[in-house]
Amino acid sequence: MKKLFAIFGNPVSHSRSPLMHNSVFKGLNYKACYTRVHLLDGTKLRETFFNLKLSGANVTVPHKEAAFKACDEVRGFAKKVGVVNTLINENGKLIGYNTDADGFMFAIEEFGKINNVLVIGAGGTAKALASRLIQNNIKVSVLNRSASRLEYFKDIAHRCYTWDNFELEKYDLVVNTTSAGLKDDELPAPKDMIDDILDNTLFVADAIYGNLTPFLKQANEKAITYKDGADMLLGQGVLANELFVNKELKLKKIKFFMQKSFNL
Ligand code: NDP
Repeated sequence: MKKLFAIFGNPVSHSRSPLMHNSVFKGLNYKACYTRVHLLDGTKLRETFFNLKLSGANVTVPHKEAAFKACDEVRGFAKKVGVVNTLINENGKLIGYNTDADGFMFAIEEFGKINNVLVIGAGGTAKALASRLIQNNIKVSVLNRSASRLEYFKDIAHRCYTWDNFELEKYDLVVNTTSAGLKDDELPAPKDMIDDILDNTLFVADAIYGNLTPFLKQANEKAITYKDGADMLLGQGVLANELFVNKELKLKKIKFFMQKSFNL
């Protein structure tokens, strides 16, 4: 029987995940199909997953923390950060993983050695990326619009700031993990602050893919080397697919067909 996979999110229409995973399933003759589910209420994630008889799923904004709560068991890095982006139906049990963080590490490899990073945003993606960077002994500061979400970072990050008490440093890399610019024209922090930050970093990355965010546009105007979230998307997708097919397909082949879908 054909297996069914899906991505849950709100919004979700922009997601390239169906294209990416279906390209692998088709290319490698794996009997499966991947669709998208527009989920408004994160507390309905578990029941929707089982009602649709899914074999696995990905989870995007703003449900990754709800996905963590929905699981019967959480494995690996996801357990550490409390953020799940990949769900597997393992004999009727919901198992959660996080592949975003390793996907991001794959994406920033080309920047070379990075020592000091500013993460803008404090949501699920920020948690995963910051924790993974810190695990690699990289100094991480976090800047977020509101204070409440910074609580998680207080014990692990070098410094935590809201817009009111931000102190500028010199960075190797600044990453936008907010959803500012995803479906609006907003910057992830006030314009003057972003200007100062960009004048003090070597590289810039955005978790958002598919459109050049106002943040990346500003980096581009300043001739700073930047990358959008496409490679991170590819990295997390390859690792998620490997979990979906329970390692029945070779990682190299998964990557080949997933990469192909980026040209569609
Ligand atoms: P969350 O909803 O968990 O967190 C959103 C964060 O963005 C919060 O810190 C929030 O701040 C901040 N924020 C939202 N709007 C604004 C704004 N207008 N100005 C400033 N800050 C804002 O989202 P996720 O962490 O799950 O996802 C964040 C982004 O990363 C999304 O755009 C998503 O598409 C992208 N992403 C890309 C991936 C890839 O593979 N390329 C993988 C994962 C995510 P506050 O606390 O003040 O509300």
